[in-house]
Order: sequence, then C-alpha cells, then structure tokens
Amino acid sequence: MRVDVTIVGGGVAGLSLAYFLSKKGIDCLVIEKNYEIGLKPCAGYIPRFLFKYFKIHGIQTSVDYMITISPSGKEYVRKVRGFIVDRRSFDRGIAIQASSYGAKLSLGEKALDFSDNILITNKRRISYKILVGCDGVNSIVARKLDNDIDKKLIAYAVQYEVYNLKDIDQNSTYNYFNVNYAPGSYVWVYPIGENAAKIGLGILPRVFKVNPFRLIEKFINENYKDSSIISVQKALIPLYAFRNKIVNKNVLLIGDSASSTDPISGAGISSAVMLAKVASEIIQKALENEDLEILQKYETIARKLIGRRLEHSLKKRYIANEFYKSNEHLEKNLKHIWIAFDEYWR
Ligand SMILES: Cc1cc2nc3c(=O)[nH]c(=O)nc-3n(C[C@H](O)[C@H](O)[C@H](O)COP(=O)(O)OP(=O)(O)OC[C@H]3O[C@@H](n4cnc5c(N)ncnc54)[C@H](O)[C@@H]3O)c2cc1C
Repeated sequence: MRVDVTIVGGGVAGLSLAYFLSKKGIDCLVIEKNYEIGLKPCAGYIPRFLFKYFKIHGIQTSVDYMITISPSGKEYVRKVRGFIVDRRSFDRGIAIQASSYGAKLSLGEKALDFSDNILITNKRRISYKILVGCDGVNSIVARKLDNDIDKKLIAYAVQYEVYNLKDIDQNSTYNYFNVNYAPGSYVWVYPIGENAAKIGLGILPRVFKVNPFRLIEKFINENYKDSSIISVQKALIPLYAFRNKIVNKNVLLIGDSASSTDPISGAGISSAVMLAKVASEIIQKALENEDLEILQKYETIARKLIGRRLEHSLKKRYIANEFYKSNEHLEKNLKHIWIAFDEYWR
C-alpha cells in the first residue's frame, strides 16, 4: 500500500494531524493499534481556544476557575476558563471530522518497525513519503530517532472516576498540594457532572518511591467519604520537555511521542493540536514543492511555538522536586512551582 503521509497512533496528535491534512486534500492514513479510538486515560482539561481548530465533542463541564489548595488548606482562586472533556468522545469527534475530509483510519494495526520509506505493521507493509510518529510516550518512531531521554522524568499517573461526591462545584478545577498525598505533584479533582469527578495524580516513581494507588485512595477516603469509585485508570506522562530531535529527514514526531507535554502540569492536549497544525502546514509545503528538506523547518517552528514554555516548566520541575521535602517547604514555595501563580511565570 502507498500513502503520502502515514501517521502512527490515533490519539489526539495523530487524529488532529489527519484532520488538518485531509482538510487540505492531502492523502493520509492513521494506523492505531487499538480496535477503538479514545481509550487514553486522561483528565481531559482543555483550554477554550481549541475551539478555533475543530468542533469539540464530549464536553462534560465548562469551568471558569482553577482553585489551588495549599498543604495548610489555603485556597487560591484564579480565573482560567476551559472545559473538561471525555476523551473517548473528544478523540472520536476528531476522527469523525478527519474522515469526513477523506482521512483513512485503520484500527487494530500496530506499527512494528520502519526503514527506507516502508513502515512494517502487524498486517502489511506501507510505503510512505512522510512518516509521523504520534504513538505516545512509548513511541517506537521516536525511539529510532533519539534514545536520549531522562527516564526519571516519566510520571506514572493514576486516575479514578468517582461518583456520589457531595457538593462538588461544577465550575472549578481543584488542585491539591500536599506531600502526604502527592509527593512531587498534585491531586486533581475535575468535575464531570453532578456529584462526579475525575480524581488523579502523577508520580515520578524513580524520584518518589510511593504507591500512587494507595495515595489516591487515601485522598478519596479522607476527603470524600461514602463516594463510589467506578473506574481506575493508569498511564505514563513524559515530563522531560521536547526530545532532542523531533524531525529527522522525512520522519516527524507530534504530541507525547515528541514529549510536548508540560513538565509541571502534565497537560499535553493543546500542545499536540498546535503542533499538528504547524506540521500539517509544513508537510503541505514539502509535498507541493516536492522538497522534503522543508520538513526540517518543523523543528525550529515547533520549538519557537512552545519550546520556551516547556523549558521554563522543566526548570521548575527540577526545583519543584526539592520543595516536596515537607509540607512546610511546599507551603512556602508553592507559588514558584505552580502555574496558577504569577510568581511561577516570572
Ligand atoms: C491520567 C492522565 C491525565 C491527563 N490529563 C490531561 C489534561 O487534563 N489535559 C491535558 O491537556 N493533558 C492531559 N494529559 C496528557 C494527555 O493525555 C496527553 O498529552 C495526550 O493524550 C497526548 O496525545 P498523543 O496523541 O500524543 O498520545 P496518546 O493520546 O497517548 O495517543 C497515542 C496513540 O498511539 C497508539 N499507538 C501507540 N503505539 C502504537 C503503535 N506501535 N502502532 C499503532 N498505534 C500505536 C496508542 O494506542 C494511542 O492511541 C493527561 C495524561 C494522563 C495519563
């Protein structure tokens, strides 16, 4: 089989790229190893500006405030408007929009290896002009481009969907900072409808030797007694900021495979969409001019777009790990290590 652009991975990065490319009339195929779209465990917080890219499906709540709770229980309120989405519906929504413009999607197809413009999958050999790795944190495409990552900065995240919560405010996201619940990190409580929320945390297992499941259950028992857990999910989050190389010849990386996730908040949806948009424009130029050298521009433009912010967060990540020695340390320094405070951005 021959395709101009083969995309490995049908998560938010791969599907967004397929949407932008197919809208331009570019021949593209997404291969996804799962038999279903949207299985990614995720809290699903997205900023409002994502509306400018495509129709947003799966909105669970619309939030206006981010509330930060310090170890002593002090609440800091910041106006930050966004949505909580259900990733299953959100990702499917992008897939449907992409396929309406002609993007091809193959489910249950796993990329195994690639070389000399041929991708080998569990089903066939696909010949491509451009290959894009959107295959997440354990990307096989990225591994062949660059092995040099700081494994200490891969977070292990757990998330519980919890019901029968009393008085859960639907208009705000809550982020709890406390070394006894989330060393090196925070517990998020994101409302998803009446009396329900996604509650989760991410731990750096090579830095903090704790069991995240036990911690989150302790948090739920102590703060939301008599609630009901209806799902438990886990996944990795890359917090090391951009890989050394996100393009090599005719191979590009987008999203978690490129590690465009924020090293402090762990948010990666909006950066994946923004990078997919940029990549689609560069791919269009490269194909129109029959000059794949143009693809190298992706490295510079992507870094210009979000590289500085990721570098800033990465510096904060290293500092933050030190502040979790005790709740006193954390209380004193919280404003320097969390995105809700002006001190963080200085
Ligand atoms: C618990 C948790 C909570 C989060 N909360 C938020 C949040 O609130 N807001 C936010 O912005 N970000 C959040 N994130 C981060 C966000 O989920 C990711 O940054 C985002 O999903 C990255 O999208 P992606 O498409 O790059 O990767 P993924 O969503 O991981 O998609 C990769 C896809 O590639 C497929 N794949 C992998 N290998 C292969 C292969 N060899 N062949 C074929 N297919 C393959 C996978 O099955 C998967 O579908 C959270 C992450 C976690 C784990």
